[in-house]
Amino acid sequence: MDGLTYKISFFTVKAMAKILQDKFWYFIAYRKVHYLDGFYYILSFDCDTQEDAEAALALYHRLRKEKIYGVYAVPGELLEKHQSIYKEIAHDPQNEFINHGYYTHTFWCKERSRHESCFFYNELSPKKIIDDIRRGDQTLRNVLNLPPLGFRAPHFGCFQRPENLKLIHSTIKELNYIYSSSTVPIYSSIYGPIIKMNDLFEFPVTGTFSQPGHILDSWAFFAAPDRNNTPEDYAKELKQLTTFLNRANQTKESYLINLYVDPSHVIENDIFLNAIKELNSRAQNITYSSLLKKIEIL
Ligand SMILES: [Zn+2]
Repeated sequence: MDGLTYKISFFTVKAMAKILQDKFWYFIAYRKVHYLDGFYYILSFDCDTQEDAEAALALYHRLRKEKIYGVYAVPGELLEKHQSIYKEIAHDPQNEFINHGYYTHTFWCKERSRHESCFFYNELSPKKIIDDIRRGDQTLRNVLNLPPLGFRAPHFGCFQRPENLKLIHSTIKELNYIYSSSTVPIYSSIYGPIIKMNDLFEFPVTGTFSQPGHILDSWAFFAAPDRNNTPEDYAKELKQLTTFLNRANQTKESYLINLYVDPSHVIENDIFLNAIKELNSRAQNITYSSLLKKIEIL
């Protein structure tokens, strides 16, 4: 997609959302996947802080009881610091680890007593970005002895332009990756939930049911200090979306929900786990590479 197509596509989708309102989501937002054989969901975890390590382990054990597995995106620096935790999670072959860059992209802000974001790709030179991706790859290989197949850009929402994605995709392609999940929900509205882009696969994250352009993430519903949403809203959004797609799926259409959360945001709250359990009763849990294997794209 060139810069002009990108601008036109995004403008069109936004305009249609405004005009069609509710109907928009029924016709556009949740695109079916023609070559998939059912209703699937992927649960991915961005483990961006020290606290996420313990929380990821606790969450892994709780989810395993339900036979639910996830995809873990951990910056290389934190992977090195919390090796034993992530080795335990990676030891279970049903889980998947993806490259999430090397450098930590959050820091503890003393004045505000909270984690803040840093290390945004849109503020870095291509050289620095390529270095971050390559070092992240090397760390996964060194620490977990894994050849990663996928990547998620840190703070990917700030790095969405076609030339940004091209840089990511060409860099990970050189590392023999087959996919990335570094795009915002609007990409899914335009192209569907699995996109062939720059010679690999891109999985946009899923949006909320009420506002599909907004990511259904843990920050907005569980953690942001100035948030308007509550954990109950998260469960409600997920239930509405699942009900809608489930109904559509009875007509043998196939869908994919691609969720991501930060473990430390949701570990203290049963609402998240219960919402996922309910989702799991209606859709099949899978990981990115298993899904691509299933549809024999690998
Ligand atoms: Zn991150």
